[in-house]
Amino acid sequence: MENILNETKKIDLRRKEYRQPNKNFRKLDIRNKEITELYKTGNFSLEALGEKYGVTRERIRQVCKKEKISKEQVKKIMKQRFLEKTVKKYGSLENYAKSEEQKQKNRLIKLERKGKWNLKYDCCIECGTTERPHSSHGRCSTCAMRYLYHNSPRRKELMKKCSCAWRLKNIEKVKIKQHEYFKKYLSKPENKKRFKEVQKIYSQKPEVKLRKKEYAKKYYKRPEVIDKRRIYIKTEKYKLRRKKYAKEYWQRPEMKIRKKEYNRLKYLKRKKLLIN
Ligand SMILES: [Zn+2]
Repeated sequence: MENILNETKKIDLRRKEYRQPNKNFRKLDIRNKEITELYKTGNFSLEALGEKYGVTRERIRQVCKKEKISKEQVKKIMKQRFLEKTVKKYGSLENYAKSEEQKQKNRLIKLERKGKWNLKYDCCIECGTTERPHSSHGRCSTCAMRYLYHNSPRRKELMKKCSCAWRLKNIEKVKIKQHEYFKKYLSKPENKKRFKEVQKIYSQKPEVKLRKKEYAKKYYKRPEVIDKRRIYIKTEKYKLRRKKYAKEYWQRPEMKIRKKEYNRLKYLKRKKLLIN
């Protein structure tokens, strides 16, 4: 009997081991575990978790206390996480400390130079404006873009392509491109005037005249040009131009005298023929 009584004393319904399972209790148990795990990560604060589960901030603190997670433990976890992140980003903790120092210095300089163009520079390095805002390394927005373009790897590749060696290899491609650019240049009336003025001064030199004659001789001996010219002669444009040129040619004082002589000779020849 004594044994049985001792056993009954041991069995207490209020104890955890003999409590009847409750459905709601089971659900709550799962939820509490979720909350504690989320809190352990350090990404969520107590208030954020409270909003997520529809509970107050105090309730979540109680839950965490029940599961034996104190604030200090979470702080430790957060510290470790922070160290890992900083080492990944800055390489070492010394670099991180240096960057923090510089940030503080910059903040002080900012307060001193309030309302001015930049922390270090009074105006743009290259163009010297203060109207456009500062973008990077003491340059305004347009100058910075230009600097980036000139130092870009894609442009350097293009420059290699268009180097002297490449130009000597494919001369015809360069000529076509030059012709296109020249057409674009002459499309503006300002450039056209300027080009004509330069051409006048340049064409008066004797060296240029000789060079032009030599070039013309070579040019009209080409088979492509001969074919093209043969077709052009048949056109009406050419005939009109020829007529106009003839009028001007025979109105010259030198040619008028020559024409008179020519006509006289012709007349004499005809007379002889008539005599014969
Ligand atoms: Zn600038």
